[in-house]
Amino acid sequence: MDKKTLRNDIILIASLLLAAIISLIVVFSLRSKKDNKYANVYVQNEISFTIDLQEDEEKDYHVYAFNSDKVLLTIHKIDHGVKVSSSTCPHKDCVQTGYVNVTNKPIICAYNQVYIIIETKAAGTIR
Ligand SMILES: [Zn+2]
Repeated sequence: MDKKTLRNDIILIASLLLAAIISLIVVFSLRSKKDNKYANVYVQNEISFTIDLQEDEEKDYHVYAFNSDKVLLTIHKIDHGVKVSSSTCPHKDCVQTGYVNVTNKPIICAYNQVYIIIETKAAGTIR
């Protein structure tokens, strides 16, 4: 094996390794972006439950009044995000916030003391 062939082999192996490392990084960053999303639902400053946004399924979640069957607020999960579809509050600010699927935009219902924040970690039990 002459020197030139050896150098070419080293360059080939190095570029293959680099390509493998780059594709791994890309796969992991895409995965973490898509995977780590949870809607944490807080009631009166305490975590009530968590909605896993990784699964793409449509589902309704209810927030009940303390020690009661009365539904205060209905959260609709769709397309890796959430929206408040109905609420007992008078001004409906939470309903008007609409669909949210980003971490920096909370849905707040001041009247019912409910807030929904999308975070990268589940704060409560996943329902
Ligand atoms: Zn509201």
